[in-house]
Amino acid sequence: MACFLFPSIMNEKPKKSGYEKRNRILKKLGFRDYAEYLQSELWSEIRQKVIQDSRGSCRICGNRKSLQVHHKKYTLLNLSGKRTRGLVVLCNGCHYSAEFKNGEKRTLPEVQKVFKRTLRKKIDAEESMKETRRKLRDGYRNGSLLPDRIPFYF
Ligand SMILES: [Zn+2]
Repeated sequence: MACFLFPSIMNEKPKKSGYEKRNRILKKLGFRDYAEYLQSELWSEIRQKVIQDSRGSCRICGNRKSLQVHHKKYTLLNLSGKRTRGLVVLCNGCHYSAEFKNGEKRTLPEVQKVFKRTLRKKIDAEESMKETRRKLRDGYRNGSLLPDRIPFYF
């Protein structure tokens, strides 16, 4: 009882990690905890499928080594393997950056925010590159850009 009351006596809320919902779903699926789930045959199959479908590269940096599967969100459907929505392939480094800060595990809302921002930057960079290539191509076709004026890095 004393233990249970401790947080309110200290006028502190128990720290919310955001993983409570995930853990409840895993219990329903018969797993003791996330560690046990990650060791399971079920997760191994889901993981392989997601990596195969991604053509084997990190969504953020394109790395093809040390691939892992990141949960953008945890749902009954993706944890049970019925759907792969919300699962994304990342390399070890990009996954670590999303999940940890200075060696400390982020809360789930923080992880989601950081991942969203990182992916947005990546998409913006891809779009900017496409736009530059399109301008160069058009300029070359309509004659406003001469081949010798195209920067050497294209
Ligand atoms: Zn990466």
